[in-house]
Amino acid sequence: MSGPRHRSDEPAPPPGARGPAARGPGAPTTIPPGDPDAAHSPALASLDADVVECRRCPRLVAWREQVGRERRAAFRDETYWARPVPGFGDAAARILVVGLAPAAHGANRTGRMFTGDRSGDFLFAAMHRVGLANQPTSVSADDGLRLTGIRATAPVRCAPPANKPTPDERRACAPFLARELEIVDPRVAVVLGAFGWAALLDTLRDLGWAVPRPAPRFGHGAEVVVHRGPRTLTLLGCFHVSQQNTFTGRLTPDMLDDVLRRAQALARD
Ligand code: SF4
Repeated sequence: MSGPRHRSDEPAPPPGARGPAARGPGAPTTIPPGDPDAAHSPALASLDADVVECRRCPRLVAWREQVGRERRAAFRDETYWARPVPGFGDAAARILVVGLAPAAHGANRTGRMFTGDRSGDFLFAAMHRVGLANQPTSVSADDGLRLTGIRATAPVRCAPPANKPTPDERRACAPFLARELEIVDPRVAVVLGAFGWAALLDTLRDLGWAVPRPAPRFGHGAEVVVHRGPRTLTLLGCFHVSQQNTFTGRLTPDMLDDVLRRAQALARD
């Protein structure tokens, strides 16, 4: 598998993102397509440019780059992205999927959210089954995957050690999620796991949405509607698509399909 490349039908790479000097020693010299739909949204393109340049969290910067240098044996011939990962999908999506953070050898390798690991395999196969993705697989940033009506993002954009960002790292990254919410303006958020649930509710509160106190609890199948003026956003809780859940049967394909179909129904209302 080749490393990520820039394609002519995608947005120009962000300023300053080209070349190893811009990325530090051992960093890749190629640009991920990232979010092709950002080409139609200057605001998203600007957000993506800011995301991929960020070095605000020293621990995560060190980790993402270390993983990119050391690499997993199966990917030793690849160039890891090893940078923050922008959101991916439809710029006008009415459904936003909110995960946790890029996986060390998944999105941190490929440069595209949920791409290149078992979690992404599970998620994008489900999106394809319900008609939200043009193909069931997601192996690299230039594999031709396109999403329609849905977009995937995360409250923390850098791969964290043990998949556990600290509260300070979550707060540091929150402005990116806030900007993405304001630009995309989804009607439904499918939230994968308790971390994303708490992060999204905090960010919505910061943006002036009326989030109840105490905050609604996460659960698979939880459904919460929040308001800001005349606007409404429905949060749908779903167990995370991690192997821990999908290999044990805690989250089955049918369960994820049901959540996505519910999101589609709400998005149509
Ligand atoms: Fe920047 Fe977010 Fe990565 Fe921290 S986690 S370095 S805030 S992109």
